[in-house]
Amino acid sequence: VEHLGAGRHDAQVDDLVIVAAVHDIGKNIVGVVLRCNNYEVIDLGVMTPCAKVLDTARHEKADMIGLSGLITPSLDEMCHVAAELQREGFTLPLLIGGATTSRVHTAVKIAPNYDGPVVHVQDASRAVGVAAALLSAQQRTAFVKKTAGDYAALREAHERKGEGAQRLTFAEARANRLKIDWARFAPVRPRRLGAIVFDDYDLRELVTRIDWKPFFQAWELSGAYPAILEDPVVGEAARALHKDALSMLERMIAEKWTRPRAVVGFFPANSDGDDIVLFADEARAKRRATVYTLRQQRKPSPGRPNLALADYIAPIESGRADWLGAFVVTAGAGIEAKALEFERANDDYSSILVKALGDRLAEAFAERMHERVRKEFWGYAPEERLSNVDLIGEHYRGIRPAPGYPACPDHTEKRTLFQLLDAERAAGVSLTESCAMTPASSVSGWYFAHPDADYFGVARIERDQVEDYARRKAMPLEEVERWLAPNLNYTPLKRAANG
Ligand code: SAH
Repeated sequence: VEHLGAGRHDAQVDDLVIVAAVHDIGKNIVGVVLRCNNYEVIDLGVMTPCAKVLDTARHEKADMIGLSGLITPSLDEMCHVAAELQREGFTLPLLIGGATTSRVHTAVKIAPNYDGPVVHVQDASRAVGVAAALLSAQQRTAFVKKTAGDYAALREAHERKGEGAQRLTFAEARANRLKIDWARFAPVRPRRLGAIVFDDYDLRELVTRIDWKPFFQAWELSGAYPAILEDPVVGEAARALHKDALSMLERMIAEKWTRPRAVVGFFPANSDGDDIVLFADEARAKRRATVYTLRQQRKPSPGRPNLALADYIAPIESGRADWLGAFVVTAGAGIEAKALEFERANDDYSSILVKALGDRLAEAFAERMHERVRKEFWGYAPEERLSNVDLIGEHYRGIRPAPGYPACPDHTEKRTLFQLLDAERAAGVSLTESCAMTPASSVSGWYFAHPDADYFGVARIERDQVEDYARRKAMPLEEVERWLAPNLNYTPLKRAANG
C-alpha cells in the first residue's frame, strides 16, 4: 500500500474505525491503509444490515463509521444508516466512499439526515488524513465546520440547477419514444434459441480480453493503459502492480484457482409499450416473462427522443419477429475462496489483488462472450473482426446493458434475468436479497442487437411514470420507490421504516 501515498499520522492505537460496504475493493484498501496507520479497523463485510453497523459501533465504542458503496442501492442504504444514526442519538463522524458516491451526493442526500459530521472521502489515500483531522482535538472543530459549509454550498448549487431542468409528463415522454422504421429493418433470428451453458471456461482466453484501465483505477492509479506504465508519476507503481497481477494470473491458471462459468440465452421478444414481452416459443402465443423498462423524462434537445430500452425491440403491432438475449458470466467461486485464504494468512495485498483480478476477469468474460454471441451464437455479425482496443471502445453492433446501470436502473429486473437463464444452476451465480450477485466477480445483462441500440441514462423520473411502472410490474409503489430512490425526481410521500 506504500504507493497509495498514505502519510503517517499520529493515530492512537485505540482509534477505531468501522467500515461496511457493498462489495468493494475500495473498502478493502481503506481498511489496509488505516491499519497501516495504526487505526484499529473492524470490517463488517458487505451488505451489512444497518442495525449491525450501529450495534457494533456502540458496543465497540467506535470513533467513526465508514460506509462504502459500489452499486446504486447502496446509496439509498447510506441515507438510511445516516437517519438511523440520528434517530439513535449518535454523534460520531460518518465517512462515505466508494465508486458510486460523490461529494454532491453526500452533501445533498446523506448529510441532511444526520447532525453528526458526514464527510465524503474521495479515495482511500485520503481516509487517513480525514480520520486524523476528525480525531484531532485541534483540527476537528475547524474541519467539521468547513466541511459542513462546503456541503451547504453544494446543496444550494444543486437546488438551483434542478430548477432549470425541464421535465416531460410520462405521456409526453412516451409519445417522443425512439421510432425505428421496422418496415425496413428485419431483426436477425439467433442461430440458437434457449440457453447455452459454459463450464470451466478457458482462463487464458479471458486474460487476453482484460481491460486494464479499471484495474489501475481500483488501485487509484488513473491513466490510459498501457501508457500508464510509463507515466512519470505513477508509472513505477503501475509497473510493479501490473507485474504482480500478471504473475498472479499465471499462478491462477497453472493451479486452477477458479472455474469460470457462464450462461447465455436468446428469447423471442416483442415490445409492448415500455415492456418487453418474452414468448415461450416462436409461435409467440404464450408469454414467458416480461422485462420492464424505464423511460427518460428530461426535456430533450430538439429532435432527440426520450429513450427506453423497449424502443430497441420491434413492437408487437409491427408484425416483426424480434429477439432479446441475456447473459450471466462469472470468474467463479474460486476467487473469493482464494481471497479468504490470503486474508487468513494476513496477506491483505494478495487478497485485494485476487479480488481485483476476479472483477477484471468477469468483465473480460462479458466482453468475450458478447463477441462470440455477435459472431457465433446469435450470429448477427459473423464477419466482425475487432482488436481488444476496439472491443473496449465498444465499436460493435449491439449493447449489453446491465440491470442496475443507467439505462435500466432497476436492480430487481435481475430476478427475471436469472430465472430465464436458470443462472444459479447453470452458472453457479445467485442473487442476494438486495439483488447483488454472488460470487461477486460476476456480470449479467441483456443483449440488444439493433444497430441503433446505444447506452443511455434514464436519469430522474417522475411520480407519474413510477406509479405506472409499479402497476405494470405489480410491485408495491413504496418498494419500487425504494429500489429507484436514486432516480426519483420527487420525494416519496411516505417511506417504509425498515431497519
Ligand atoms: N471494459 C470495461 C467495461 C466497462 S462497463 C471493463 O472491463 O470494466 C461496461 C458495461 O457496463 C457495459 O457492457 C454494460 O453492461 C454496462 N453499462 C455501461 N453503461 C451502461 C448504461 N448506460 N446502461 C446500462 N448498462 C451500462
